[in-house]
Amino acid sequence: MRGTLGGPRVLLRRLREVMAEPIHAQERLDKIVVLIAANMVAEVCSVYVLRVDAVLELYATEGLKADAVHRTVMRVNEGLVGYVAREARPLALSDAQGHPEFAYRPETGEEIYNSFLGVPILRAGDTLGVLVVQNRAHRTYTDEEIEALQTTSMVLAEMIASGELTALAPPGAEPAVRRPLHLNGVALADGLGLGHVVLHEPRVTVTNVIADDVPHETARLDAAIHKLRHSIDMLLEEDGLGSPGEHREILEAYRMFAHDRGWLQKMREAVLSGLTAEGAVERVQSDTRARMMRASDPYLRERLHDLDDLANRLLRALMGRDKVMERAELPENAIIVARNMSPAALLDYDRTRVRGLVLEEGGTTSHVTIVARALGLAAVGQVDNATSLADSGDPVIVDGQAGEVHLRPPGDVEAAYAEKVRFRARRQAQYAALRTRPSVTKDGTHIKLLLNAGLLVDLPHMDETGAAGIGLFRTELQFMIASAFPRISEQLNLYRAVLDAAGERPVTFRTLDIGGDKVLPYMRAVEEENPALGWRAIRLGLDRPGLLRSQVRALLRAGAGRELRLMFPMVATTAEFDAGRAILERELTHLRKHGHALPERVFVGAMLEVPSLLFQLDEILTRVDFLSVGSNDLMQFLFAADRSNVRVSDRFDPLLPTALRAFRMVAEAGERHNKPITLCGELASRPLEAIALAALGYRLLSVSPASLGPIKSTLLELDVAAARRVLMPLLDDNSGKVNIRAALRSFAQAEGLPL
Ligand code: PEP
Ligand code: MG
Repeated sequence: MRGTLGGPRVLLRRLREVMAEPIHAQERLDKIVVLIAANMVAEVCSVYVLRVDAVLELYATEGLKADAVHRTVMRVNEGLVGYVAREARPLALSDAQGHPEFAYRPETGEEIYNSFLGVPILRAGDTLGVLVVQNRAHRTYTDEEIEALQTTSMVLAEMIASGELTALAPPGAEPAVRRPLHLNGVALADGLGLGHVVLHEPRVTVTNVIADDVPHETARLDAAIHKLRHSIDMLLEEDGLGSPGEHREILEAYRMFAHDRGWLQKMREAVLSGLTAEGAVERVQSDTRARMMRASDPYLRERLHDLDDLANRLLRALMGRDKVMERAELPENAIIVARNMSPAALLDYDRTRVRGLVLEEGGTTSHVTIVARALGLAAVGQVDNATSLADSGDPVIVDGQAGEVHLRPPGDVEAAYAEKVRFRARRQAQYAALRTRPSVTKDGTHIKLLLNAGLLVDLPHMDETGAAGIGLFRTELQFMIASAFPRISEQLNLYRAVLDAAGERPVTFRTLDIGGDKVLPYMRAVEEENPALGWRAIRLGLDRPGLLRSQVRALLRAGAGRELRLMFPMVATTAEFDAGRAILERELTHLRKHGHALPERVFVGAMLEVPSLLFQLDEILTRVDFLSVGSNDLMQFLFAADRSNVRVSDRFDPLLPTALRAFRMVAEAGERHNKPITLCGELASRPLEAIALAALGYRLLSVSPASLGPIKSTLLELDVAAARRVLMPLLDDNSGKVNIRAALRSFAQAEGLPL
């Protein structure tokens, strides 16, 4: 350790003594900079602390002018210190003034120092400040010296993170340990959640970084690494019994990292420099994070998670599982922050206390998203580094409408959101008041409002919203959130529970709609070029009749003694419907033969989601008891626009005459054949679209639970005949210039309809 007096070990020991002294924070900092300067044989040692207002403030110095302390401030885009903070990487220069980022600060007397070594003060990869040493001579700092200063900076990180320096600052200029962050993501589930962070997999926090006994710490580190490798080998062995898949790949990656010489070497060196084994793990991980968090390469970010996870395992091995793993009591308003999670894990939380969900991954069609929506949680996904930036207990706001997260929000933001929440609550109360009002328009048209559902947690929504029944029960959700195929008895239990909850109200079960965007983790995925157009829904059901048959059997048994409604998804030809129906008949015969009680009546329908069915309406309507229009898929196929690809999914307005003419065809055919037509896609959940559908003759709309109140409040004020007078001429306008959305909006405004 050339150039340093006694090396970092001696320094760390001295620093520990200073940390233990019962003195004022400023005095402690002043002593620390003196010690570091002496140890590093530097004329200057300064500590800059990053403030909540994104400004770096000089907190202590040895060597620069003393009255610059707490007076010199700079932005993170200013000067060499700002550069180090921004890059979160050490910077060593023998000719500092020749560096393009050098900024001259006369009040510090800095101009006479030629060499500069700055290291970021990092905590969990987050920059808390910058530690600098300077020399008058043109000195070339060695790698060992840079390392030593980085190790030393951990003590400062601990001091800043502990909040000890906060008392030295006026309000609004405190150290940025917990600065407000505004994070952007993707809106997954509508709603606003205000509460406190609960990290799904809590990070281990290291508090004791300076070693008493270096050989002892080395032995601890080695033992922990040995244990870690062993536990990964065990996991791989256990996993070997199951199927190869993503899980195994992750474990293989863990094993590779756990044997990575570079990683281990860095941790060993950190211990040799005087850190505890925990301190060494944290120090190396903090560095790695700081570097990788700035990477835009998704592959690298993914690896960061693996490394984080490994580091956490190592820390647990070092600190004893029980100290770390016990999950604190869930706060009153919990916002769960996770990299990703399974639906089952989300359902494990006490749902009366959870208000929101923030995920680093997660897409609009992920299963956890589906569950979050069913639970009425505000959810935002694709929030980069959320688990690194948030700490358990931090105040946080999840805006599930805008897809934004406010971490540790400033008072004004919090107040604004609290007002929004109150506003929403008032609106909810207004909708709740409509619960028992019959859904009849101003001009006396009855429009039944039903719910889209799929999980047990959806059932209470029926009573809460006053829905007339369930228009679409997506049976695949039970399969999607399970870890293996649900047994027939489990299916039967769910269907019974649904029918029991509905009582007299009708429930339409849709048979399994798997494939496309609906993936089962435990079912071997078939590689398909175009999964949306692939082997899915009824196609899969007919090719794997065992699956469909057992589901139909469970449905028939659940419906014993009552009316049962079921429909097949993605029917493209009448032959497919006939084949589905044949399976149903076979099951009925089978159950009858074995003396099982049967449903009083079975209504069988088809979903209209594939445009081909638009041109066989008469044929299909003579076969079915009812049709249900799945506008999500119908629009996807009509406009050839992938519904899960945000680039194209909103490219085509479903209020274009093209789409509305298709909906009109279906409504008119339904009237001709005197067969009920339901619309169960998301379309019906939007007020303007619902007005259009009512005008086209739709009398059964199945909507998401959160939309039922708003749609009802619109329909109650609607004059259907008047809407029809506006809409119909536009539908047949061939000028190519009509804007139905605009026309309906003006109509709604003129009529005073709540939208
Ligand atoms: C639809 O496609 O409109 C529909 C209701 O089914 P899902 O959204 O489940 O595909
Ligand atoms: Mg569909």
